[in-house]
Amino acid sequence: MEKKGGIGVEIEHIFPVIKKWLYSDKEIFLREIVSNACDAVTKLRRLISLGEDAAREIPDEGFCVTVALDKEAKTITVTDNGIGMTEEEVEKYICQIALSGALDFIEKYEGENGADSGIIGHFGLGFYSAFMVSSSVDVLTRSFTGADPVKWTCTEDGAYEIHECSEDEAPARGTSIVMHMSEEGEEYLNESRLREILQKYCAFMPVAIYFEDGKEEKKDDKTPAPINDTSPLYLKNPSDCTEEEYKEFYKKVFHDFREPLFWIHLKADYPLNFRGILYFPRIQNEFESLEGQVKLYYNQVFVADNIKEVIPEYLLMLKGVLDCPELPLNVSRSYLQNSGYVSKISSHITKKVADKLSSMFNLDRPAFENIWRDLKTFVEYGCLRDSKFYDKTVSCLLFEKCSGGFCTLDEYLEGAKAIHENKVYYATDKVSQAGYISMFEAQGIETLLLDRIIDTQFAQLIENKRDGVQFLRVDAELADAMKGEGAAEIPGVAELFKKLVPEQTEIKFEALKDTSVPAVLNVSEDSRRMEDMMKMYTAMGQNAPTSFPTQATLILNTANPLIASLADADPEKAALIAKQIYSLCLLSQRRLQPEELRTFLSDSYSILGKL
Ligand code: ADP
Repeated sequence: MEKKGGIGVEIEHIFPVIKKWLYSDKEIFLREIVSNACDAVTKLRRLISLGEDAAREIPDEGFCVTVALDKEAKTITVTDNGIGMTEEEVEKYICQIALSGALDFIEKYEGENGADSGIIGHFGLGFYSAFMVSSSVDVLTRSFTGADPVKWTCTEDGAYEIHECSEDEAPARGTSIVMHMSEEGEEYLNESRLREILQKYCAFMPVAIYFEDGKEEKKDDKTPAPINDTSPLYLKNPSDCTEEEYKEFYKKVFHDFREPLFWIHLKADYPLNFRGILYFPRIQNEFESLEGQVKLYYNQVFVADNIKEVIPEYLLMLKGVLDCPELPLNVSRSYLQNSGYVSKISSHITKKVADKLSSMFNLDRPAFENIWRDLKTFVEYGCLRDSKFYDKTVSCLLFEKCSGGFCTLDEYLEGAKAIHENKVYYATDKVSQAGYISMFEAQGIETLLLDRIIDTQFAQLIENKRDGVQFLRVDAELADAMKGEGAAEIPGVAELFKKLVPEQTEIKFEALKDTSVPAVLNVSEDSRRMEDMMKMYTAMGQNAPTSFPTQATLILNTANPLIASLADADPEKAALIAKQIYSLCLLSQRRLQPEELRTFLSDSYSILGKL
C-alpha cells in the first residue's frame, strides 16, 4: 500500500526558509546528513551495549557510514548500518518536521537573515538541509527491529510518498539517504569538493566514514581507509597521549610542517564539560600572519573556525581544537557573547594557558627563554587584550637584553635600583642605536631590546599597570649616571649649533663621563612615541599629519676636547666641525634624509682634503 502526503501546515513555511537561510552555507547539508547517520549507528551501539537482543548482530564490515557519489545519476547517497526506522518512525521523525525542533527554531529566528545574523550551527534543521541542494530526496530504511523496509521520497516542494520497499532496494539494516542534486547542488557532484567538505566537517565523527567517489572499483583484498579519525586525540586522557601523538595530530589537522612549540590539553569536567588541545605555533617574525586557527566542534562535529564569541580573541593566534557539547549552537552570536557559560570557558582557558606558561618558566627557565622570542608576540598581545591574562602571566614575562640573555621586569628594576630607579632603558634597533647603547653600557646600565611594534605598546601597558615605572628609549635622555660634574656653557659654541638645528631643538651643555663623544641628540620619549604612532597610522593608510615638531635636545659634551676647542677655533673651521658633529649626531639617531646625506658626504670629503 502506498501513502501520499504533504509535509502539512509547516511545508510552505519551512522549505523556502531553509533555502533562503542556509544559502550561504549550503555545504552544511553533508555534515547534517552524515552526522544523522553517525547518530543512527551510535544509537544502535548503545542498544547493543544495553543487551538489546534484536540488535546483537554486528555487521561484518563493522559499523560505518558510506558517502557515495554518482555523477551520472547526479546523486549523493549517505548510507549507514545503524538503527534504521520503521514506517511509523519515518512518519514521526521525518514527515513531521515540527518534532525535530525545526519549527521552534524558525519561529524564533524568522525575519533575521540567517547568514548575517550569524547563527553558528544550523542544528535542528538537520535532515531538511538536504533540500538546499536536492530536487528530491529518497530515504530507504530498515529498522533493527526487523520491521518491513520503507521507502520515502520527497520533492523539493515538500510533497512526499511512502512506498513499500523491495528487499534488495533497502540496506540490510540501517538507512540510505539518496539526494538527487538540483541545479543548486551541481557543484557537489565533484569528488574533490565532497572530500574536502567531509574532511572539514566530519574529520572526528565517531563512526568510520568511507567515501566512494565513483571512480575506484572496490578491491576485495584491501579495505579502504575511513576519511575520519573516530577517536581523536583530544578526547583521550592527557596522561595516555605521547609527545609524538600530539605532534602528529597537529601536523595532520593544521597541515603545518613546523613543529609546535608546546601544547595544552584541555579537559574540563562538569559543569563546563569541554575538551580540546591548544597548540602554540612558532611566530618567528611580526610580519608573519598572526591568524591562528581554533576549530570548534560540537560532539565531534565541526562547527566553525575562530569563533570570537567562544574563544578569547588573543587565543585565536593559536592553533587548536575545542569540543564543547554544552554549547547552545543554534543561537545567535549575540547570545553567545553574553552567555555566562561561554565566559566561563574563556576564563578557564585563560587560566590554563597562564598556568602552563608559569610552570614552564618556573620548571625550566633556560628552555622557556629559548622559545621566548617565538612566544612573546602571543603573550604580549594576550596581555594587551585581557587584563586577567596580564595579571596571571606578568611574573613570567621576559625581556631580551641588548647585551644578550633575558630578564623579567622585576629583575631589571631590582638591578637598576641603585642607579636609575624605576627607569627602564630600551633600544628598538640594536644596530642603528649602537652608539647610544654602548654609552649606557659603559656606565653599567643594562638596556632592553624592544624591537617589535607590539613591544612598545606592551611597554606602555606596563607603565599603566606599574605605578612609577617609565620606559625610555636610549635616545630619549641621558641617565644621570652618565653625567659628570662641572658642566658650564662654553661661550660662542651654542651659537654655532643654533644655526644648524631646527628651531624647537634645545641646546644644552653637559660634562659626560664618556669624553670621546662630542655631542648627543636626545628626542623626548613622548614626542617620539607620538611620531611613531603617526607613522603607523600613515603606514596603515590612515590620514595623519605628515610632520609636527619633535622635541629634541642637542647635548654638547664639555668634557670632549673637540667641543672644548671650538670657541677658540678659526670661525670657518669651527662652523664645519659643528656641522659635521651635528650630522654625526643625527646619523646615530636616525636615518639621514637624502639632502642631509648628500651634504654630510660632501662635507666629509672636504674635511679629508684638509687633513
Ligand atoms: P535532529 O537530528 O536534530 O533530531 P533531523 O531533522 O536531522 O533532526 O532528524 C530528525 C530525526 O530523524 C532524527 O532525530 C532521527 O530520529 C531521524 N533520522 C534522521 N536520519 C536518520 C538515520 N540516518 N537513521 C535513523 N534515523 C534518522
